[in-house]
Amino acid sequence: MTLRMAVPNKGRLNERALELLHKAGLEMDINWGRRLYAAAENQDMEVMFVRAQDVPRFIHSGTVDMGITGLDLILEADLDVEWVLDLDFGHCRLAVAAPEATGYTSVEDIPEGARVATSFPNLAWQFFAGRGKNVEIVRVSGAAEITPHIGVADLIVDLVSSGSTLRTNRLVELDSIMHSQAVIVANPDSLQSKGKEINDLGSSVESVLLAEKKKYLMADIMSDTLPEVERIFPGVAGPTVMNIAGRDDMVAIHVVIDKSEVYDAVNSLKSMGAKGILTLPIDRLVP
Ligand code: AMP
Repeated sequence: MTLRMAVPNKGRLNERALELLHKAGLEMDINWGRRLYAAAENQDMEVMFVRAQDVPRFIHSGTVDMGITGLDLILEADLDVEWVLDLDFGHCRLAVAAPEATGYTSVEDIPEGARVATSFPNLAWQFFAGRGKNVEIVRVSGAAEITPHIGVADLIVDLVSSGSTLRTNRLVELDSIMHSQAVIVANPDSLQSKGKEINDLGSSVESVLLAEKKKYLMADIMSDTLPEVERIFPGVAGPTVMNIAGRDDMVAIHVVIDKSEVYDAVNSLKSMGAKGILTLPIDRLVP
């Protein structure tokens, strides 16, 4: 059964989404992301390239079975789709911000009836309603940050990543409505009819995300240092230990470690007399 997927055609989410699918093992020609539609060469799978904002609607309508987009866009669309996997990129927060000159420091300072410019009208409305604030939502499709300066709105609700856009526009963040990142989501009916295919794709991508955080480390160590090496690398099941032909005094170890541990691990092994220390990238890791 052909699995249909929607992926953002441009913007912040496009490149990394394609990279993850590629690393997960889907073969695609090099111009994949520039087309409207493509079929994977080695899987029964079709990919549609659409605007990130349109992904929730295409999934909900059943045009595609699953897709990649920002959690912010999914919650804003308020359509019934099922979460499959967090993709740990495209991190940002949906924040309330006001011009510095207002002197506001929290949402409590916002006066009744204030005009809020946003391309997230549903999430903004829900947030202010939850705080018992009566505001007027001014719907914009982008560049909300300039609206307070041209008299269109008093404050904004917009995505913030580094915060530099807010600073450039002399806006201060008053509150954060939600944290967002790229996610894989699926159509609930497709999860019934193509659950295996959807979950296989999800776990393939998950294995790439796990592998990217790890390194494969190999070293030849003095046999009498093995207990100490095992202490340094407790791992899930400890290091794999192998004999080295013709050497009784040394063994080879292979171990998967966190990227962040590589620096200390290599230095410790070196100081314990290890030789031939190698670290290698891992493509996929299924624990
Ligand atoms: P920054 O200056 O890094 O805080 O980025 C803010 C601008 O980038 C805003 O205009 C946002 O709409 C946009 N932005 C930041 N992060 C994301 C994201 N993960 N997805 C989509 N747009 C984003």
